[in-house]
Amino acid sequence: MENIICRSAKKCGGCQYQGVPYEEQLKKKQKMEEKLLGKFCKVSPIIGMENPYHYRNKVHSAFGRDRKGNIISGTYEASTHHIIPVEDCLIEDEKCQEIIRTIRGMLKSFKIKTYDEDTGYGLLRHVMVRRGFQTGEIMVILVLGSPILPSKNNFVKALRQVHPEITTVILNINDKRTSMVLGEREKAIYGPGFIRDRLCGCTFRISPKSFYQVNPVQTEILYDTAIRYAGLTGKETVIDAYCGIGTISLIAARHAKKVIGVELNKDAVRDARINAKENRIQNAEFRQGDAGEFMVAMADNDQHADVVFMDPPRAGSDEKFLSSLVRLAPDKIIYISCGPESLARDLKYLVKHGYEVKKIQPTELFAFTEHVETVVLLSQKSQTDISM
Ligand code: SAH
Repeated sequence: MENIICRSAKKCGGCQYQGVPYEEQLKKKQKMEEKLLGKFCKVSPIIGMENPYHYRNKVHSAFGRDRKGNIISGTYEASTHHIIPVEDCLIEDEKCQEIIRTIRGMLKSFKIKTYDEDTGYGLLRHVMVRRGFQTGEIMVILVLGSPILPSKNNFVKALRQVHPEITTVILNINDKRTSMVLGEREKAIYGPGFIRDRLCGCTFRISPKSFYQVNPVQTEILYDTAIRYAGLTGKETVIDAYCGIGTISLIAARHAKKVIGVELNKDAVRDARINAKENRIQNAEFRQGDAGEFMVAMADNDQHADVVFMDPPRAGSDEKFLSSLVRLAPDKIIYISCGPESLARDLKYLVKHGYEVKKIQPTELFAFTEHVETVVLLSQKSQTDISM
């Protein structure tokens, strides 16, 4: 595979494996997984990407000015507000990047000032663009330091004249001194305020603040592995913890008796409920709240689940969740993780409390970065017949 070099790599810092041939990157990741997880079970060979470039369906740029006063957009230098201009990122979706460049070019004629992180003056802080890989629907989020975008209708009109493929434009207001990109308040100024995408035969709506995997091609492989590991027959009660917009829940629901998804983010839960309806799935329900608390309540009330999918953030799960999970004692746990260190820690707990690790499948979701996604199958130690 050709080894393309990025011009911004050194300063940007987003891709730890820039300049490393792709095959080599996969080897490094495999080695890391074996080092951290090999003690639990044999680690299957990582599933790499056919084309590791331009996979990111979500692109974010911070906006500001350089010393000469020129408008620039790009990424923050590590732990600063200093913007490193990024052009032609090798892992981000090209169309999303093109839209960000167009917006940058429009600011002057619309007299839109960029926000100054030090003084708090100015308007445009960030632009985020998300694209549905299968549907082509595109969401543009303009993150502003104050609520009003002057001539917003003309701005949208001019932007869509260049990019008619944009299906929704959202203003997000972030007036806090924070490193978080998105603020609480948001308003669609064009289109429905969300996009849709398709994965594994289901259609999903995605709101601005809802989590959605950034690598759609590999996500289908990831979810297929997770569902296969669950070995569902149609009779099972399933929990999908940290369920986001209900992706795994709804894909699993087609093969299970019932699925309960639990998720903290309110917007994601609303998306999940609507996604169930829109896909005509009647055996999935969603609860909003902390996954740990939900599991405590399930265990306290002697509820039963046959299979638990869990897909926590990079920091992993917590003792509250894990201790109630082992009390609930599902036959199988499918742990989907983007942080091998926290995964190793949580697996240690589960192995100590009656589970054994049956399969470990690393999957590439983040080419050129050091991150790895992993699917793990655990089953209760007493269970002898694992029909995998
Ligand atoms: N399974 C989903 C989402 C995984 S990302 C998918 O594949 O798309 C992890 C999710 O956990 C995010 O949606 C985040 O909002 C949610 N989350 C974070 N902390 C949580 C908690 N304490 N309880 C429940 N959900 C949580």
